Amino acid sequence: MDALETRRVRDLVYETFVREGRAPSIAELARLTSSSVDAVQERLTELADAHALVLSPDGDAVRMAHPFTAAPMAFVVTPLDGLDDRRWWGGCAWDSFGISAALGLDVRIDTACPQCGSHIGFDTGPTIAPRPQLAVRFPRPAASWWDDVVGTCTLIRMFCDQDHAGRWTTQHAPGSGQVVAATTVWRLAQPWYGDRVDPDFHPHTREHNQRLLEDCGLTGDFWRLP
Ligand SMILES: [Zn+2]
Ligand SMILES: [Zn+2]
Repeated sequence: MDALETRRVRDLVYETFVREGRAPSIAELARLTSSSVDAVQERLTELADAHALVLSPDGDAVRMAHPFTAAPMAFVVTPLDGLDDRRWWGGCAWDSFGISAALGLDVRIDTACPQCGSHIGFDTGPTIAPRPQLAVRFPRPAASWWDDVVGTCTLIRMFCDQDHAGRWTTQHAPGSGQVVAATTVWRLAQPWYGDRVDPDFHPHTREHNQRLLEDCGLTGDFWRLP
């Protein structure tokens, strides 16, 4: 498999997400790379195996290319610049901050607290921290995030505060997960996703990403990457 061609497919997926908020189809990728649908499918499978993106359950479409998602999830990300009419679904609280970090863009994030249903909306950006009382719950340890990565993102939700996150956990998943301040997740998203759409992006090593977690105070077994 030609590594350059695989990289080209990966970059085209990200370019389409950045520009249009959607994933390109396999036929579209075949046309853009002047290759066959089968060749593109093979490259996408290779990228999915490397956790560079996530395919649909049937394997025939891009489902996520972190921090972007092709299907509606609980977060909407809107540029603060009213003349910029792009919109993105945020796969999770972390990914929503990640879209802003990857694009170097000030945005509005809209979601709802899973405990009380209240709308949560706020402005954020690479230099604009979210409200300190907002809380983010991670449903499972880092070692198993990729066992079901869409399911993991679906459950990385934002709550009004630590109290609502705690009450939700008691009712729905007692004793599981960890709740951290949204400001911590915002801080983590900057180096984790900041280079994701750069032309010279290189996938981070496990050690690099572990250090990014540690730099945000996310240490211990729960945060140990596989
Ligand atoms: Zn709430
Ligand atoms: Zn996510």
